[in-house]
Amino acid sequence: MTHSSAAYVGRFAPSPSGPLHFGSLIAALASFLDARAHGGVWRVRIEDVDLPRCVSNADRWILATLHAHGLEWEGEVLYQSQRSEDYQRIIDAVLASQHAYYCTCTRKMIRQFGGVYPGTCRNAGATRPPDSQPAASIRLKLDDPVVEFNDRILGQQHFASGHAIEDFIIQRKDKLFAYNLAVVADDIHQQVTHIVRGSDLLETTVAQLSLYRLLGAPAPEYAHLPVAATEPGYKLSKQNKAIGLDNQRANENLIEALKFLNMTVPASLTKNNCDKILDWAIRHWDCNAVPKTREVIVDKSESTYYKQK
Ligand code: GLU
Ligand code: ZN
Repeated sequence: MTHSSAAYVGRFAPSPSGPLHFGSLIAALASFLDARAHGGVWRVRIEDVDLPRCVSNADRWILATLHAHGLEWEGEVLYQSQRSEDYQRIIDAVLASQHAYYCTCTRKMIRQFGGVYPGTCRNAGATRPPDSQPAASIRLKLDDPVVEFNDRILGQQHFASGHAIEDFIIQRKDKLFAYNLAVVADDIHQQVTHIVRGSDLLETTVAQLSLYRLLGAPAPEYAHLPVAATEPGYKLSKQNKAIGLDNQRANENLIEALKFLNMTVPASLTKNNCDKILDWAIRHWDCNAVPKTREVIVDKSESTYYKQK
């Protein structure tokens, strides 16, 4: 690995569940700018760990869209679907050290306890699935979960209850590796030092930090961006008709994304190509200027990112 000792390694880690839309461009662009402004490395990882939710070819559309917007990554694109061995090795290790256990609870049972996992199976501490229920999930045993961290954008964060600190699943009943496990394993593997991503993932950060600590790995710095939402609580996503970015309008898309990130874009910049726009943005990038909120409402009728009915 050429950049293994870089002081800054950032990344963009899209799930290939559809084309890149305006909401995901924000995370791609901000993580890219933050890396480049620090003279760092920017990697791309395709988070296809949840294969049933992946759409075939979405990885290629995403990569083509990044490329069309001048967002060039370094090194090979890492695919989570190729990383099972490492995930399994971690699971074996945390089971062996009794930091994880098999859980046979059903979703219905957990719902009856209010939705947050109450730790029903933790005392049994099974390190093998019971013969009667071979399809059990594996949970991390968090005796002393991490409850806070300092976010570079949102400041001090504290999550001392609920899903953020429950014994989270690292391998599902259906044997799929869970996102929280894969993302931490990959960020460690890729030596990521700085994570810039949407604040829909804010609560997952403490869970992920607990796993870093358990694995004895240094934790990265976090910066959580506001997510683009069409209404409070409705982030742009495939589900609410966010459409794939039009690569023919890449420079306009970048300008819109820079404005979303609260950058004061000179009018003259808008006529430039992507590389020029990105050059300007790297020079003017200021993480502190990003709105310190978890979401920003965008205009529903803006056809750049919202499909009109
Ligand atoms: N794959 C996740 C998503 O697309 C992002 C994970 C991350 O940045 O940590 O929402
Ligand atoms: Zn259980």
